[in-house]
Amino acid sequence: MKTISVLGSTGSIGTQTLDVAARLGIPIAALSAHSSIELLEEQARQFHPGFVAVSDCEAGRTLRLRLSDTDIRVGIGAEAVEEAACLGDTAVTAMVGIAGLKPTLAAISAGRDIALANKETLVCAGELVMPAARERGVSILPVDSEHCAIFQCLNGEDRKTVEKIILTASGGPFYGMSREKSYSLTRADALRHPNWAMGAKITVDSASLMNKGFEFLEAMHLYDLSPDQIEIVIQRESVIHSAVEFSDGSVMAQMGSPDMRLPIQYALTYPARLPCPAPRLDFRALTALHFGRPDPVAFPCLQYAIDAARAGGNRAAVVNGANEVAVARFLRDEIPFGRIPELVAHALEVVPASPICTLSDVLAADRAAREAVWQF
Ligand code: NDP
Ligand code: MG
Repeated sequence: MKTISVLGSTGSIGTQTLDVAARLGIPIAALSAHSSIELLEEQARQFHPGFVAVSDCEAGRTLRLRLSDTDIRVGIGAEAVEEAACLGDTAVTAMVGIAGLKPTLAAISAGRDIALANKETLVCAGELVMPAARERGVSILPVDSEHCAIFQCLNGEDRKTVEKIILTASGGPFYGMSREKSYSLTRADALRHPNWAMGAKITVDSASLMNKGFEFLEAMHLYDLSPDQIEIVIQRESVIHSAVEFSDGSVMAQMGSPDMRLPIQYALTYPARLPCPAPRLDFRALTALHFGRPDPVAFPCLQYAIDAARAGGNRAAVVNGANEVAVARFLRDEIPFGRIPELVAHALEVVPASPICTLSDVLAADRAAREAVWQF
């Protein structure tokens, strides 16, 4: 059976991936986390990978001591995460932020398939990652529920007949609020997502709709679409995970209960469909499905990401870098919710537009955006 490396194994997607792997008996080649070594030690003892990587150096040294009674190798630092990425047949990229970029590229170079959760990688560097994957002949299987839905709808279809993608969004906890009303909201307000339990950063991105903007970019790169082919529709209940409209007017949608184990499992077992314990959709209990349009004035982050998708070059990496710092500051209660788009807008203004040709171009844009936001 094929093995997997689970990067970011201590997070929301990482722990659910290990649940799926344990149930299906998928062997774990490597695990990685940043600093949550209590949980990482527990996972290492349960799943017996050959290698565990910890990106935080001090935490890594502690884990190495703690696992010294086992034959599990412990690697320390960002390079160790890259090594972990290359050890399984498939790398599940469930770490958060641009920290996912280099390990993903390393896994692609080593010819490993990617089960991609870390959307920031495609947001910042889709124009490098997708060609690298094509060249190396590796598959990038989407874990993000919307992209998994699109992937399923495209199964067996002629790509030339795709007219557009309908990317659904729950709208998040602040749906319907004006920008003024949501401006002073806090971390506690933003972490109350109506439908999904996820890591803190993506939950904030869902509240600001930056997450949907990132998913717009992710869909563009994964499915080679133009920005005009992607329409964002609010679907409040998160039951329709996304849809594809074809040239004859047919719309195919994928539906299911909001449970990430389903898309994670599909990415790991594709093309096979195996039983999954995710709750079944009960149409008799669904009284209605609610739709709407996103409001770009109330949620400027969405517009910044879409504008970046249209502009190309380093714009999306600038949006991402600025957003990572802004969200980290918001999560430390240093700034109110409404300050996040202001910081992103500032970075877009001060970091000059330039093309992305190499990894260094991406990292330079990311660094410049972070500096702009720290100083502002
Ligand atoms: P979490 O915050 O729950 O977990 C993040 C994981 O990444 C943890 O294992 C963390 O380790 C690790 N990590 C953090 N910083 C670094 C770093 N600098 N280097 C290496 N590893 C690091 O995030 P989620 O699981 O919610 O999200 C992970 C990714 O999946 C994100 O890109 C997100 O957008 C995407 N995604 C998530 C969904 C969800 O339902 N949660 C849905 C769709 C996509 P530690 O615990 O030690 O900090
Ligand atoms: Mg999603």
